[in-house]
Amino acid sequence: MKPKATVQGLPVYQPGKTLAEVKEEYGIHDVIKLASNENPFGCSPKVWEALGEMKGEFHLYPEGNAPKLREKLEEYLETDPRRIIFGNGSDELIQMIGRTYLEPGTESVMADLTFPRYETAVRIEGARPVKVPLKDGVHDLEAMLEAVTDRTRVIWICNPNNPTGTIVTRQELTWFLDQLPDHVLVVLDEAYYEYVTDPDYPDSLSFLDYNPQIIVLRTFSKIFGLAAFRAGYGVAHPDVVRELNRVREPFNLNRLAQAAALAALEDEAFIFYCRNQNRLGIKQITEKLDEWNLHYYPAHGNFILMDTTMPADEAFQGLLRQGVIVRSGEALGFPTYIRVTVGNKEQNDRFLKALEQLLEMKG
Ligand SMILES: *Cc1c(COP(=O)(O)O)cnc(C)c1O
Repeated sequence: MKPKATVQGLPVYQPGKTLAEVKEEYGIHDVIKLASNENPFGCSPKVWEALGEMKGEFHLYPEGNAPKLREKLEEYLETDPRRIIFGNGSDELIQMIGRTYLEPGTESVMADLTFPRYETAVRIEGARPVKVPLKDGVHDLEAMLEAVTDRTRVIWICNPNNPTGTIVTRQELTWFLDQLPDHVLVVLDEAYYEYVTDPDYPDSLSFLDYNPQIIVLRTFSKIFGLAAFRAGYGVAHPDVVRELNRVREPFNLNRLAQAAALAALEDEAFIFYCRNQNRLGIKQITEKLDEWNLHYYPAHGNFILMDTTMPADEAFQGLLRQGVIVRSGEALGFPTYIRVTVGNKEQNDRFLKALEQLLEMKG
């Protein structure tokens, strides 16, 4: 049996090491995972309550259009409900966008380096990924604009960018959208939107009022702490939503995910708390990095990409042996860097101690 040409040789997603794997392989009991940008504070307790009430509903299919969650989100975002489309994580929306807008002979522009799922989605459809190098870790919108041709269908802007954590500003994005020919769809992946506190960060939903060319992707996996449920959404012009709905799996947002996300939206105090703790965590970590003269990119999400000044896999292994799981920059295209998720205060302390030990051993 032969898979279709576009699938041959596609990379298989490599998940970070799990707690259980590290405990077993290294015989360490006390392991912390700062590798997948999960919320160190878990999720809102309102979610547990909501799920407890669902025991009688497990035999029922989900409601395909997620009406209650849609209504709540409409209010939360102050947007038109016809602009919202849900995904089994925003990962699924990335695939749906590829399915809908890309085919052999078309091109799709993205940063080099950015979230790897864009390239996978593009390749599956037989379209050509066009990669534009980052400039100081930031999307180079000028160069991305120059890369646009008649064949370009989709442009991916990851804001904040994973793995660098940098943002493009309102001013840069406005300029970019003003120049862009109107046959191109711009994906603004804002998985870390709720973490950003920089006043120059764009209010992307307001662009939608006059620009039908963008789709904003957000998720319940990060600050809402619901990664287990796989719940994400896109906000776009109703015409774009209509096309995407043609390729959507009918029950793609499961019943538990809908209830969990709805409850999570009711607890703004939790989000506020997590955002504040995250800012404090970034300060806690970067103050040490400054002290040790280690380079890092300006962190706007809940993770920091930092230079360890040693081979990334070596740093990764050295931290692992001390029970701290991070992400090696080797696979991310930054061969001396690691990406660490900002944890709670104790976790950050533990990480910093492990890193310090590693740097001292190196001498
Ligand atoms: C984590 C992440 C996602 C995936 O989110 P899910 O909703 O869990 O699929 C999407 N984009 C970026 C940039 C991410 O870091």
